[in-house]
Amino acid sequence: MKAAICRQMPGSLEVEDIQIDNPGPGEVLIRTVAAGVCRSDLHLLDGHLPVELPSAAGHESAGVVEAVGEGVSYVKPGDNVVTCLSVFCGHCDNCLTGHAYACMTDEFARQPGQPPRLSQNGKEIYQFAGVASFAEQLLVGQNALVRVDPDIPLDKAALLGCGVTTGLGAVFNSAEVKPGSTVVVVGAGGVGLSTIQGARIAGAGRIIAVDVEDHKLALASELGATDTINASTTDPVGEVIELTQGGVDFGFEVIGLPKTVRQMFDMVRPGGTATVVGVMPFDAKLEMSGLDFLSSKVYQSSLMGGGSFRVEIPKYVDFYQHGNLKLDEMVTQSLPLKDINKAFESLKKGEVARSLITFE
Ligand SMILES: [Zn+2]
Ligand SMILES: [Zn+2]
Repeated sequence: MKAAICRQMPGSLEVEDIQIDNPGPGEVLIRTVAAGVCRSDLHLLDGHLPVELPSAAGHESAGVVEAVGEGVSYVKPGDNVVTCLSVFCGHCDNCLTGHAYACMTDEFARQPGQPPRLSQNGKEIYQFAGVASFAEQLLVGQNALVRVDPDIPLDKAALLGCGVTTGLGAVFNSAEVKPGSTVVVVGAGGVGLSTIQGARIAGAGRIIAVDVEDHKLALASELGATDTINASTTDPVGEVIELTQGGVDFGFEVIGLPKTVRQMFDMVRPGGTATVVGVMPFDAKLEMSGLDFLSSKVYQSSLMGGGSFRVEIPKYVDFYQHGNLKLDEMVTQSLPLKDINKAFESLKKGEVARSLITFE
């Protein structure tokens, strides 16, 4: 089967023929229908994440179950599923206390000595984020997927596998945005637009979107932002403070840059909640002062929506089916696997909300 492989960092992807193993105990083989191109994949290519190479990239996908291994009862061949990198064991302390996004075991990876899931001429190809979505087939543990209503188009459902769930969950689970509150979202890419939609669904009163691209800000308005600020022409911190007379109740940074995280912290009112959603390069440093801790702000990060994806994603499918969650509007372009690097060029240039790789 064909898969997009990262062989050096920084680098680009090569579409190559590789082998995928049969599903072992607890594993599921999936025919990929669509895979979203997420900024974390770009972090991989830029060398900003600690991963082993060669690595098959991609981690936001939906498809149809082709075969299941021994002991799999949750899905059967023919089921429509969305994958998620936030694999859970279901029995560690975090899983048992509603924090499955931070599962503390890795028992669903294959163990040393077992054949690799993906290989090429006998040599292992690592699965980025345990998923490796830019491939015609996926082989994952059964706790890395959720069954979805067959009526939701899989090319839209794919977005729920990372970006949309990350954005909505940051609002609902991590920050717990209240009706009528004020919100700022710094970054209006795929996850930022999802955060904006989450704030709208949660009933926020004022939702301020900050970006440097006017076309993204226009889409942010369409999806729920009440105010927009182009940070390339306006001081975004001063503007947010002025618009809200002292700062917002809830701030979200959804890019992953120390500079914009710092700006977001300063946009939040004393006593408000600042949530970092963007993935920063793993060696990035963030500067804070003693003064930052005199204002009683909550500083936190949100990982994969801070919930249990198998509980969250079916709710989001329902939001979509009732017209509350807009997914069609978030797909800027659909491309075949052979054009995968074009999708990354578009992402780097800030041209897209989301690019999708489609396989049929
Ligand atoms: Zn992602
Ligand atoms: Zn666990």
